[in-house]
Amino acid sequence: MDTIRCRRCGQQAPPLPRPPFRNDLGERILREICGTCWAQWLQHQTLLINHYGLDPRDPQAREFLYRQIEEVLFGGGPGEEIDTSRRGTIRH
Ligand SMILES: [Zn+2]
Repeated sequence: MDTIRCRRCGQQAPPLPRPPFRNDLGERILREICGTCWAQWLQHQTLLINHYGLDPRDPQAREFLYRQIEEVLFGGGPGEEIDTSRRGTIRH
């Protein structure tokens, strides 16, 4: 399979070279999300990590980011609102 149809932007595009995570979500991203959309997500993720002071090694922080990926890349949602003027806390 040389290209995928990206679920987020609808473009026919090459997939990522490898899954970004070693789990089901990583495989789904590989099959359904193009490199451009993934790069946009990574920028958004950096904002989230900075805003919430997340440690990506922390399982709870990873859960939060996975949920955001579901929402932003697969759900077409806007994702967590980021008020960059203050530091946020994760809503549960
Ligand atoms: Zn895309």
